Amino acid sequence: MAQKKIRKYIFVVGGVISGVGKGITTSSIGKILQSHGYRVTAIKIDPYINVDAGTMNPTEHGEVFVLKDGDETDQDMGNYERFLDTSLTRDNYMTTGRVYLSVIEKERSLAYKGKCVQVVPHIPYEVIDRINNAADKANTEIVVVEVGGTVGEYENILFIETARMLKIKNPDDVLFVMVSYLPTPAKVGEMKTKPTQHAVRALNSNGIQPDFIIARSDVALDETRKEKLALFCNIVPEGVISAPDIDSVYDVPSNFEKDKLGEKILKRFKLKSRGKIEKWKEWENFARKVHKTKDTVRIAVVGKYFTTGDFTFADSYVSVIEAIKYSAYSLGKKPDLVWLSASQFEGKNPPLSELASFDGILVPGGFGTRGVEGKLNVIRYAREKKIPYFGICYGMQLAVIEYARNVLKLKDATSREIDPSSKEIIIDIMESQKENLQNRKMGGSMRLGTYPAVLKKGTIAHSAYGADKIEERHRHRFEVNPAYIEKLEKAGLVFSGTSPDGTLMEIAELPKKDHPFFLGAQFHPEFQAHPLHPHKLFTAFIKAAIVRNKEEK
Ligand code: GLN
Repeated sequence: MAQKKIRKYIFVVGGVISGVGKGITTSSIGKILQSHGYRVTAIKIDPYINVDAGTMNPTEHGEVFVLKDGDETDQDMGNYERFLDTSLTRDNYMTTGRVYLSVIEKERSLAYKGKCVQVVPHIPYEVIDRINNAADKANTEIVVVEVGGTVGEYENILFIETARMLKIKNPDDVLFVMVSYLPTPAKVGEMKTKPTQHAVRALNSNGIQPDFIIARSDVALDETRKEKLALFCNIVPEGVISAPDIDSVYDVPSNFEKDKLGEKILKRFKLKSRGKIEKWKEWENFARKVHKTKDTVRIAVVGKYFTTGDFTFADSYVSVIEAIKYSAYSLGKKPDLVWLSASQFEGKNPPLSELASFDGILVPGGFGTRGVEGKLNVIRYAREKKIPYFGICYGMQLAVIEYARNVLKLKDATSREIDPSSKEIIIDIMESQKENLQNRKMGGSMRLGTYPAVLKKGTIAHSAYGADKIEERHRHRFEVNPAYIEKLEKAGLVFSGTSPDGTLMEIAELPKKDHPFFLGAQFHPEFQAHPLHPHKLFTAFIKAAIVRNKEEK
């Protein structure tokens, strides 16, 4: 007899405040259900109007994570890919803007056959279709859907309504998880459950009762508060999961499992564990390494999206930071990561000697002019002092500009993005991008997503990958100007990776005899780095950094 198709939905919503780990909770729930032998996918719903995350400044919304199909999404999509060790598509991501856009386009093409198209039910129906479509395409049994924002906001109300409608139609197949925050005000000294009670009530007023509360707090929940939450939030005590702050997000799945969250969810769905899969052990081993590794390697990340008001935040580069960790741990090292703001290396006498204490320097992707001169100074220092350097996207383009300025002696060398009036445009707008810029077609129009590249034998890139051909994700409008390639090569720069037709320069590097590791990639390798599969280029960079670390000792 054919097995009955399984289709279960878990909605993860936030209570009280955002930023307390809904994305990691969603990823971790996916991970543990996957480890119980189920096919799982994860979906992110972002409540803003932007059609995608690509038009937002990273200091507004964190990193823009690019999927293989080129969709510019929220950084949580990166967490899902890394935790589930998979790659997702644009079907797994939606925003209010995207949902409305398709409903309006459908209406314009008479898809609603003369009906009055209304916010409810047509928007929720569209969302349900999208969730099912993503689940079908990924051939999954359980879909974990993260609803951005917190309950009680205007913005996400339609998505909460969607979840309610889905539950009414499929009462046994939908579960709700609320990730809530329990503050312990310093002056009071006692953990407070009241804000969470209010959040649950807000959700109740939308017709939804949470099945689980993930209680986020500085310390573990005691029995008194667990019972209180259960009683006042109308939840069985096993449904309250204590989730205190921890040092490593990679411990979250194991911590949930200590509370038997996987089995509890499966029980509610009337499903049984199919036995822990092999990968779970690998995951636990990785999570353990994060704590056990003591020996450090010191890496500076020099960027510009680090500050928001008076606060510093590294969310803009989360994939880069995690990619460094995976490679470092795989080599038995703990990364000592320091973020430095590019602007501090500008002006007269920039404090470049501060960089000497680092084993490796990385300049990640970026846009615009701010901080560029500082980055160029940093890159020059790394090149001249032979400090391992890894440039990603803008970090590659700037490395090429630095080389043109200081080795080719083209003092006006720049990118069209920085100074379109310069005579020495080393990095130019891609032919295919000219029209987009002229017509201000900015959203989702860069060279985005996975493209192949071919590698030159005998180069650092070729030996790092151990392959002739690679596929990497992109997000850029500018490229190395073909008019300068020969000159740059003559001066010693090696273009070790190009598009298969040889027109786009994908990797630039210096030969090993001239520098231990000086390499820039036009693509974003960080998007394909996974805890269980560190990225080979990052690993090559960290290896070089480890060599420097040893030499210094
Ligand atoms: N601003 C550069 C470009 O558009 C680099 C982009 C990036 O670093 N992602 O080409």
